[in-house]
Amino acid sequence: MSDIRQLAASARQHMVADLTAYIECETPSDDRAALAVGLAWVRSFVSSRLGEPEAVRTVDGGEMGDIAILDYPASAGGDGRIAILAHYDTVWPLGTLASWPVAIEGDQLTGPGAFDMKSGLIQAVWAIDIARRAGLPLPAIRIVLNGDEEVGSLASRPVIEQAAGDCDATLVFEASAGGMLKTARKGVGIFELVVGGIEGHAGLDPDKGVSAIHEIAHAVLQLHAASDLAAGTTVNVGTIRGGSRSNVTAGSASGMVDVRVSDEAERERIDGVLRGLAPQHPDASIEVLGGWNRPVMTRSAGIAALFARASASAAAVGATVEETSVGGASDGNFVAALGIPVLDGLGAVGDGAHARHEWVSIDGMVERTAVVAQLLGDLARQPLRVAP
Ligand SMILES: [Zn+2]
Repeated sequence: MSDIRQLAASARQHMVADLTAYIECETPSDDRAALAVGLAWVRSFVSSRLGEPEAVRTVDGGEMGDIAILDYPASAGGDGRIAILAHYDTVWPLGTLASWPVAIEGDQLTGPGAFDMKSGLIQAVWAIDIARRAGLPLPAIRIVLNGDEEVGSLASRPVIEQAAGDCDATLVFEASAGGMLKTARKGVGIFELVVGGIEGHAGLDPDKGVSAIHEIAHAVLQLHAASDLAAGTTVNVGTIRGGSRSNVTAGSASGMVDVRVSDEAERERIDGVLRGLAPQHPDASIEVLGGWNRPVMTRSAGIAALFARASASAAAVGATVEETSVGGASDGNFVAALGIPVLDGLGAVGDGAHARHEWVSIDGMVERTAVVAQLLGDLARQPLRVAP
């Protein structure tokens, strides 16, 4: 077994204890007070393992959780700068822990936020600690902590883009996809259809009313027809609402639409479909609100090169990693859109993101921590500088 692997194996119980403590500090995206407590926990955890950062910047998240950027200098002999992204919010409301406490069964640890993505932060921090103790060189490391990822990263997006903008590469510690790293992610758009009609007595004045429900039904069919699975495009009207009573022509209707695309051409095509939605009846109206939340993360040459480094690092510690492309988006999408190499899915091995049974493999935590320690050392020796 490599030294790195051995160091990671001997950290196993500490990692489990750290992850347990982190999960027990609940951090729902919509609870600023809880997020403040969570961020304070994370700050003190990182400092206790890695020492005080060289520089700290905290950005007010407004309605959302604050964003913290922690800078650690390169070690002697280390070169380059790497950004690490780890959101500290979860989808789970405060109090979830009462009915779903942290539990360990065999190799599986379960608890709210374990997989998405509390394990990822624990692994990232331990990887840095282990690389140091193994005497590997380290690049300058910038840890970016945001508390609004699960609600679209509206406050943190510009901060993330700026923080990662002058780094050679960005490592995202979101959970893996069945153990695989993520080298491509779809872009995501969230839109709302707002349809206006005219109310009238459905029986007495059937010709006076204009049904918004009739209109939205047409729009839904047009939108779903725009899905193209072969091209990687999905369009889903996930909710619709409308009307007031069975005997009243519906005066209004609305619906929420989720769109995922694999490339820019498809994004433009869907934009065209949305712009082209027109009412059937001249007195009805259709408005499309919302927009594109996260751009497409395309597997660029830089991303491929970064994955190749990770793959070689895995081999050096007796592990293997595979890559895949996924439909879900992350904050890595923002950074990849700037042309910076991004490797995502470096966090938990396990399953069940946003599901009541989410779990992480403890063996997986240990192994991925060793892989990342090795990767950081490799990136410090030979920074990834890929021509754009
Ligand atoms: Zn996540």
